[in-house]
Amino acid sequence: MSDEQNTQPIMPVEAPGRVAVPVENRVDSDVVSGSNHFISWGGRSDVGLVRGHNEDSFLVRTPLFVVSDGMGGHAAGEVASAIAVETIGANAPSDPDDILLGAAVETANLAVIKGAEEGRGKPGMGCTASTVVIKGDRMAVAHVGDSRVYLLHEGKLVRITHDHSFVEELIDAGQITEDEARVHPSRSVITRALGSDPNMYADHFSLEVHNGDRVILCSDGLSSMIDDAEIEMLAVSSVTPQSAADNLVSAALTAGGADNVTVLVVDVKNDGIAEAARKRLLQRVGTFAAGVLVALVAVFALLAAFIRGEWYLAPDGETVGIYQGINADIMGFPLSQLVEPTTVQIKDLPESVQSQLQRGIQVSSEAEAHAIVESYRDQIDADKTRAAEKAEEAKADGDPTGATVVPTDQAPEGEAEAGANAAKEAQETQDNEKTETSSSTQGSKSGGGA
Ligand code: MN
Repeated sequence: MSDEQNTQPIMPVEAPGRVAVPVENRVDSDVVSGSNHFISWGGRSDVGLVRGHNEDSFLVRTPLFVVSDGMGGHAAGEVASAIAVETIGANAPSDPDDILLGAAVETANLAVIKGAEEGRGKPGMGCTASTVVIKGDRMAVAHVGDSRVYLLHEGKLVRITHDHSFVEELIDAGQITEDEARVHPSRSVITRALGSDPNMYADHFSLEVHNGDRVILCSDGLSSMIDDAEIEMLAVSSVTPQSAADNLVSAALTAGGADNVTVLVVDVKNDGIAEAARKRLLQRVGTFAAGVLVALVAVFALLAAFIRGEWYLAPDGETVGIYQGINADIMGFPLSQLVEPTTVQIKDLPESVQSQLQRGIQVSSEAEAHAIVESYRDQIDADKTRAAEKAEEAKADGDPTGATVVPTDQAPEGEAEAGANAAKEAQETQDNEKTETSSSTQGSKSGGGA
């Protein structure tokens, strides 16, 4: 907002006698620039050639950009605009949500009012706020006052905000033109601003932006000095956002620099390169993960195949069990399973075999496991038969205690009978069998381990 005293008509920038004002090495000029994968930006805020201090404030906190033009005189206008950009910065959404962005501007309005009440700044201070959030192909806009947001799309400049000013209303009513508005005596009268009405609301909307679009935020120190055609010409002809901001500020100064002038320029680089890079990275991660998965599956398949070919004997409670797999576990997951329980009692076996069973007796196949179990059974039967025979002998000798040794209760019925019939045979082969069982066990153990 320019003060009322600056009412001299604005001369065209190209007018004879005008000396172009370069912005390089300007003392009262703040510059900001930067870029990321999606946008690049440049900005400049200049006190101008007439004012003694700069009441404009701006904020670049990607993806948020804010320009605020303060009013209220020294130590008030700049306080109001500073409170506004601070508050908007603290409350703006990180996504292009224009409702939330508008709410942030409305919060800033209350903050400016409160600031005046609490003695930060002065009563009656106020400011404008033009703010955008740009992310991907969306831009949210929220706006109050006569600062502006322009969009340069395919070489054409379009103003996308509506000034809240008296002259804008006259233009809307068809009473004056844009050019007349720039030199109208009441051109600085604004109809909506932050800092007076607690019920003030912000204009807000969202729109699509494209690769190569250039967004320009400015205070009226630019738009009151040069017309939209010149803004468009400079915006089109400047290569970088910073050179665009510098050229626009320079033009405003060259045109008289009657007001503080602030320009932020944001270039949209939504060309799919960043998106493609992101996709490539995801693809690479995906390929790697798939490779790891395939390797894991292969390892587990090999392990499973290996485990299926392994057999061993080990205790299954009180009896001997036939197990498939390896007598071990990986992080609590067993690598074997009980395939077949047997009725062979471990306690009936010789102690050396019992201790071998506790460690697990590895065998080369399921058939060998069965054969060993059968040999255990035969051995136990033979032992029992021999015990029965001894009992018979004791009975014949007239020892009454011998009868109690008859193991008909302990041995399975059929086996006990068969054992009694083959008693003599069993006794003859007893020692041989024992040796065979032992050697067979030892043999398969060392064979499996090799
Ligand atoms: Mn201004």
